[in-house]
Amino acid sequence: MATLAEVLERRTAEAAPELVELISRDRLRCYACGHECPIPEGALGVCKVRFNRGGTLHVPWGYVGGVQCDPIEKKPFFHVRPGALAFSFGMLGCDLHCSYCQNWVTSQALRDPDATSPPIDTTPEAIVREAVRLGGRVVVSTYNEPLITSEWAVAIFKEARAAGLLTAYVSNGNGTRRVLDYIRPWVDLYKVDLKSFDDKHYRQLGGRLEPILNTIRALHEMGIWLEIVTLLIPGFNSGDDEIEKLTSFLAEVSPDIPWHVTAFHKDYRMSDPENTTPDMLVRAAEIGQRNGLRYVYAGNLPGRVGDLEHTRCPQCKAMLVERFGYFIQSYHLTADGHCPACDTAIPGRWGPSFDGQITATPFLPGQRRLRVL
Ligand code: SF4
Repeated sequence: MATLAEVLERRTAEAAPELVELISRDRLRCYACGHECPIPEGALGVCKVRFNRGGTLHVPWGYVGGVQCDPIEKKPFFHVRPGALAFSFGMLGCDLHCSYCQNWVTSQALRDPDATSPPIDTTPEAIVREAVRLGGRVVVSTYNEPLITSEWAVAIFKEARAAGLLTAYVSNGNGTRRVLDYIRPWVDLYKVDLKSFDDKHYRQLGGRLEPILNTIRALHEMGIWLEIVTLLIPGFNSGDDEIEKLTSFLAEVSPDIPWHVTAFHKDYRMSDPENTTPDMLVRAAEIGQRNGLRYVYAGNLPGRVGDLEHTRCPQCKAMLVERFGYFIQSYHLTADGHCPACDTAIPGRWGPSFDGQITATPFLPGQRRLRVL
């Protein structure tokens, strides 16, 4: 029986020329993520899904590891079309190896023998057709690290744009200037998981802090809508000092970037730390607010974090979007995205009105429809 690596090897295309460079007679450099791997003939990159064969960089193509319909609040984007259905897809593999990953079945499929996740063959047209049929407004590359499968995401996003949908990355942010320039024309929204503000912690996860900070700065400069998430893990990244530095950095890039601080629950191989409590989230959120961030949200503990699930006007404190978990309880922004009480402009990608909510809980669409038969 073929191994998963062999199965995926048959599902590849040539890398985009922007994301690869010949650096010596038999060595290519890949620029799809911050590792910038020099890859000798016959070898794989760190992500294990991009490889050099015969002087060509082969990259994942033509399948998904899974699809799911999510409320956009789950991504989480809180300043984009509240209540919208986000049609989410992922491939397999990741450039980091976080021991607490909540998507390990797809992200660690090539590293962990317990992570069995067979690919489903499909096309960009089939994915977008299904997203439209289900009422999706946004197509999201998520579940594995989208940067390492950017060629496939861009092919899908071109179809999505033509169908009038928004497009998004949910990413660890370990990017390069080249990959961001490559995706820029096709990506509307970007969520970065800022996991820590300590380079030592990032090295434990298989990365470095600097490329992630550079990605955040670059995305903001490029005008791609950006929201940041930090999963607060007690004893790993929850120290006041670290949260202080992390939120000061974000506020310096822009106080208008929404920051979501979310609760950890024991998962995958990280089962030692205790689960995050509401008090811990509130304390971290207060540090972010003190450092000037105007939109701070506490996630994963619905109904237990006071006002920190809602969007309020930073000027007059009027309620703008009221939430319980992923559910939109009320919506008060004006048609042009202003506060109805004091007319402050609220940054985001708002629609002219609240369109209702298709779902407040994730659900699986019929995956069979995506298959190429
Ligand atoms: S995507 Fe990243 S990890 Fe994979 S080959 Fe390219 S640079 Fe290396």
